[in-house]
Amino acid sequence: MSDPEVLVIGAGPAGLVAATYLARFRRRVLVADGGAPRARWIPVSHNLPGFPQGITGEAILRRMTEQALEYDAVIERGRVERLQPEGDDFRASLNGREIRVRAVLLATGVVDHHPDLPGVDRAIERSLVRICPICDGYEASGKAVAIVGQDDRGVREAAFLRTYSDRVTLIHTGSAEALTREDELRRMGVELIRAPIDNVRLEGDRVTALSWGGNFRVFDLVYSALGTSPNADLARALGAKVGDDGCLVVDAHQRSSVPGFYAAGDVVRGLNQIAVAGAEAAIAATAIHNALREADGWTVR
Ligand SMILES: Cc1cc2nc3c(=O)[nH]c(=O)nc-3n(C[C@H](O)[C@H](O)[C@H](O)COP(=O)(O)OP(=O)(O)OC[C@H]3O[C@@H](n4cnc5c(N)ncnc54)[C@H](O)[C@@H]3O)c2cc1C
Repeated sequence: MSDPEVLVIGAGPAGLVAATYLARFRRRVLVADGGAPRARWIPVSHNLPGFPQGITGEAILRRMTEQALEYDAVIERGRVERLQPEGDDFRASLNGREIRVRAVLLATGVVDHHPDLPGVDRAIERSLVRICPICDGYEASGKAVAIVGQDDRGVREAAFLRTYSDRVTLIHTGSAEALTREDELRRMGVELIRAPIDNVRLEGDRVTALSWGGNFRVFDLVYSALGTSPNADLARALGAKVGDDGCLVVDAHQRSSVPGFYAAGDVVRGLNQIAVAGAEAAIAATAIHNALREADGWTVR
């Protein structure tokens, strides 16, 4: 490819959908990816529109990658280490070289805080430990569900899961003061166990079992309510506005507070879902294309 016009940072669902749109707008688009999309963790998604029998995270990423490549988007493995404004453009460092582009889309996602349990990665792959009740709460229907939390986020997640099961237990591993809504747990019939994280165990990688104080309990599955950290360092360094939760603040066209710098997907404030990431990416890509058309005089005045 000759010099790219648009740099997309991140090849998860948001970055890949944006790449397809931009490439179909005949923009020269380079996608840089650090190699760890959150979407890769999805054992099987049952809520992605168009896949009634479900689809794995790997298959979603493979299909989206194929589609972007079909229209000549370029995907390069490697982390963007630095991003700076240069006149109306941006300069990015990737794999030891400097790239100048006219617009940037940040699609860097978030990092989950996994519970510190032995075998946790394998347990997530097997859907025994889960991260996202909006994604797969339905599949917890009627099951004995434990939620590992450190603060009131655990209470909110327990409340959400009550829709699906009347056997919901919050295992609070944080400080006593961090849990302020015990009354709400009682009202909803959610059991509360206070236990330090080092007393919580997974048994093998087949059965989810938890023990504390000499007691032993088995649950069908465990949700982690330990939160996430947005990958927003590049945005912060540029001076783009981020919210209290560390996520990017954008307008209805996915524009950040820095002109020419857009964001889509989990790194943006809002619902962390593939359908949302895809929609935001479509909006961002169209806004980028329109802004570049306008700069080039290809719009009706
Ligand atoms: C276990 C699990 C199950 C889930 N199930 C579902 C489900 O059923 N349905 C659903 O809709 N959603 C589900 N999700 C949520 C879904 O995975 C996310 O909403 C989606 O992946 C967000 O896409 P994204 O492109 O914003 O971020 P990601 O998929 O996380 O991709 C971001 C990419 O950016 C890269 N990156 C970060 N920084 C840099 C940098 N500096 N330079 C280059 N690359 C960088 C990362 O390496 C990563 O590859 C689930 C998530 C998990 C963890």
